[in-house]
Amino acid sequence: MKYVLVTGGVVSGLGKGVTASSIGVVLKACGLRVTSIKIDPYLNTDAGTMSPFEHGEVFVLDDGGEVDLDLGNYERFLDVRLTRDNNITTGKIYQSVLDKERRGDYLGKTVQVVPHITDAIRNWIESVSLIPVDGKDNPADICVIELGGTVGDIESMPFIEALRQLSFSVGQDNFCLIHVSLIPVLGVVGEQKTKPTQHSVRELRALGLTPHLLACRSAEPLLETTKEKLSQFCHVPVGNILNIHDVPNIWHVPLLLRQPLSQNQDAHIAILKQLNCLSTAT
Ligand code: ADP
Repeated sequence: MKYVLVTGGVVSGLGKGVTASSIGVVLKACGLRVTSIKIDPYLNTDAGTMSPFEHGEVFVLDDGGEVDLDLGNYERFLDVRLTRDNNITTGKIYQSVLDKERRGDYLGKTVQVVPHITDAIRNWIESVSLIPVDGKDNPADICVIELGGTVGDIESMPFIEALRQLSFSVGQDNFCLIHVSLIPVLGVVGEQKTKPTQHSVRELRALGLTPHLLACRSAEPLLETTKEKLSQFCHVPVGNILNIHDVPNIWHVPLLLRQPLSQNQDAHIAILKQLNCLSTAT
């Protein structure tokens, strides 16, 4: 199994869900089978009891699971049927660890965030990624994991640590990290600002994860000089800096990821190269 992790920096509501689903679409278009996992670092067990005014509408899966609306995006974009376990929350992880603790499964050990919570997260991701979601019998080729929230949040720390361990255990050919970030333009200066992205990449690297691609959200297309600056300061090749500027309709985003002529953008090639499977894709 190969994993594509999508994290977000700077602010919430950047479009991580739309970016992760669109990445799934472009990988599927290369002939790969894709599944997805959404991580929500909140303590609620699921989205069923959460106000739609705060989190958008609850999406109900075929198995009755009440989950974040991003799973609806995944089902529609990728034409898959997900299970309630494809939505991981802090609440679900703690509940499973506490149930094990009450059963005595830890044999008297002190139960801690590291390693017990992080192990539970890793095991959950590894087992759920193997569930076929596209009607076929065997597991998908690639699992796209979206980590909700913003890098640096206290809530997401155990997930970041678990994902760092996962990236190490599956090896670099099987793990691609795409960091979604914001490139604001200050009205007075009129310049695309890279500093917030530099800081969020630094934060990510301090936590042991290095982004292979940057997906930059901006109002207008990124300038070449902005890409060069990002590349220089964030240690990501220019060809791996994707520009996802505002579009009138989110269905345009997968097209935006594959615009070799106008934008010099080939997201699928950059991702497949990182995953060392460019030759197997069609
Ligand atoms: P996050 O997962 O980071 O919270 P979402 O994927 O839920 O963000 O997107 C937040 C909002 O931004 C949604 O309403 C979505 O339709 C919109 N959006 C995302 N990407 C784009 C884009 N490239 N252009 C315009 N709107 C976008």
